[in-house]
Amino acid sequence: MIGAFYQPKVVLADIDTLSTLPAREFSAGVAEVIKYGLIRDADFFDWLETNMHSLMALDEQVLSYAIYRSCQNKAEVVAADEHEAGERALLNLGHTFGHAIENAMGYGVWLHGEAVAAGTILAADLSQRLGWLNKQDIQRISAIFQAAKLPLNPPKLTPENYLALMQLDKKVADGQIRLILQQGIGKAVMTADYDKAMLNQTLEAIAA
Ligand SMILES: [Zn+2]
Repeated sequence: MIGAFYQPKVVLADIDTLSTLPAREFSAGVAEVIKYGLIRDADFFDWLETNMHSLMALDEQVLSYAIYRSCQNKAEVVAADEHEAGERALLNLGHTFGHAIENAMGYGVWLHGEAVAAGTILAADLSQRLGWLNKQDIQRISAIFQAAKLPLNPPKLTPENYLALMQLDKKVADGQIRLILQQGIGKAVMTADYDKAMLNQTLEAIAA
């Protein structure tokens, strides 16, 4: 039935298969795990900071917990919002910038999670310019992506290039680029109500 949504009854994650992944693919997956901490679960973010080394070493208990907590967060978001409107949009943290990166570089040149990591850094940079994140938050966000061996620096496209690609995002409404931004670690919001000059500053800083 078109327009109906059904949620899965079971999510099975076989952690043994993770050890067969190339390191780059594994890191790319970790980007989406970090995302849950950033958008809604500050305790999980703290836990990830403490356990990232073990996670990257594929420690079974740490992996199991990270996957469990990620699934729990996703299930809560989806249950609260079955139609991809409110909270579910927060799962797109880093993705508006990230999709622009993937698109510009050609799909597969940057892995999705790599583009999301660099995109999340850009969203954090804009959030700091807006006064919503402090310097320490920025350092923590950079450090955790670095510990997960993910890229911090996006490709040096012009701001015009980024903006043109970001306009293709499905969250654009009335020509306005709606972004997922952070108002602290563990708190994200979707908004088009940000200072566009500051978005330009974020994009100009890439090329600098
Ligand atoms: Zn994603």
